Amino acid sequence: MRRKDPLIIGGGPAGSAAAIMLARSGAKPLILERQRETGDAICGGFLSWRTLATLEQLGISADAVGGHPVTRVMVSTVDRCAEAPLPGGAVGVSRRHLDTLLLKTAEAQGAGVERGITVREVGPNHLLRLGDGGEIDSETLFLATGKHDLRGISRPKGTTVGLRVRLAPHPTLSHMVNDRIELHLFAGGYAGLMLQEDGSANLCMAVSKDRLKEAGGDPASLFRAIGSENQSLGARLSYWQASDAIDAIAAVPYGWRGGETTHGLFKLGDQAAVIPSLAGEGNGIALASGMAAADKWLRGGPGAAIGFQNDLAKRTARPVNTARLLWRGGEQPALAGVATSILSVLPVLARTLAHMTRIPH
Ligand SMILES: Cc1cc2nc3c(=O)[nH]c(=O)nc-3n(C[C@H](O)[C@H](O)[C@H](O)COP(=O)(O)OP(=O)(O)OC[C@H]3O[C@@H](n4cnc5c(N)ncnc54)[C@H](O)[C@@H]3O)c2cc1C
Repeated sequence: MRRKDPLIIGGGPAGSAAAIMLARSGAKPLILERQRETGDAICGGFLSWRTLATLEQLGISADAVGGHPVTRVMVSTVDRCAEAPLPGGAVGVSRRHLDTLLLKTAEAQGAGVERGITVREVGPNHLLRLGDGGEIDSETLFLATGKHDLRGISRPKGTTVGLRVRLAPHPTLSHMVNDRIELHLFAGGYAGLMLQEDGSANLCMAVSKDRLKEAGGDPASLFRAIGSENQSLGARLSYWQASDAIDAIAAVPYGWRGGETTHGLFKLGDQAAVIPSLAGEGNGIALASGMAAADKWLRGGPGAAIGFQNDLAKRTARPVNTARLLWRGGEQPALAGVATSILSVLPVLARTLAHMTRIPH
C-alpha cells in the first residue's frame, strides 16, 4: 500500500531533524537507516553556537549534547600560525553521540525507525527497492542519505577525499589542542583537529584525489608526507599510531548545491548542498534543511517539494560559496600563508567569516 506520511531515507542529522519535527506535529514518518548500530560518520564533529541553538529547537539541550568546549580557531600553514576567538561557544562531539541523541529524540516523539534497511534504488513514482529484495512505495520521500549516493538520484561526483582518524586520549595532545578547533592547511587540502567528549581527538582531512595519488593512494603515506611539510600538524600526527583505523570516503562534491527536484521528493542535508567541511557547517545545514522540509510538507504536502528545494538552494548559496572560496584558497600554500598573516593581525576576520558560512535562519 502506498504510504501517505513521509518515508525518510537515512537517519543522520538531516533525516532525524525532519522526523522530530514531523512526529511532533502528529505525522507518522518512518526512517529507514542502513546501519544497525550508530557509528562514527566521517565528520569533524564541530557543532557551532548556531547548530547548538538549532538542536535546542529540536528539544536537545546543550547539556544533553555535552561535548568538548571549543572557543577558539587556530589556522596553521607550512610556516605561519594564527589564532582567533570564535563568535560563540562551540563543541566537539563524536557523530556516534550526536546521531544517537537525534534518533532517540525522533523515536521519543513517535517517529518510526527501522534499522538495518538499505535502500538500493529509487524507482519511478518513488518506489523504493530495498537491499533484502523488498519494495516500499510512498507519496513523499525525504532523501537524507548524506554522503552516500543512491541509484535513481543523480548528484555530481567530486574530486575530494574525506579521511578520519581517532587519536586516543593523551594529556600532552589534550594540552596542545585544548579548547581550539585547529585547521592545518597544506598543498591540496586541510586537516581539522578537535577534542571530543571522551577526551580523544578527532582528526578529519579533506584532500584532493591527486594529492592522495601522489602518496601512492595510501592515507598513511599521505599522513607522513603532510606531517613533515606542516610542523604543527606533524606534532599532532606524532600521536597517530599506524594501527589506528583510517576511515575514508571518495568523490565528495564540495561546493555543490542542487535546487532541482520532482513532486514529493525533498532532498535534505548533503543531498541538497555540500559545504566544504572547513566551515564546520554541514551538520547545521543538515538540521536546518530537515526542519524546513518538515515544515513545508506539513503545510503543503508532497506538492511543496519543488518550492522547498528552490528556497533551500537560495539559503545555502552564501555559506556554501564563501566556504568554497576559503577551501580553494586554503589548498594553495602562497594564498593560505597571506590569509593566515592577515588573520593574525585581524582576528575579527574570523568572526565575519564564521557568520558568513552559517545557513541563515
Ligand atoms: C572530512 C569531513 C569533515 C566534516 N566535518 C564537519 C564538522 O566538523 N562539522 C560539521 O557540521 N560538518 C562536518 N562535515 C559535514 C557533515 O558531516 C555533513 O554535512 C553531515 O553529516 C550531513 O548530514 P546528513 O544527515 O545529510 O548525512 P549523513 O550524516 O551522511 O547521514 C546519512 C545517513 O543515511 C544513511 N544511509 C546512507 N545511504 C543509505 C541507504 N542507501 N539506505 C539507508 N540508509 C542510508 C547513513 O548510514 C547515515 O546514517 C564534514 C564532512 C567531511 C567529509
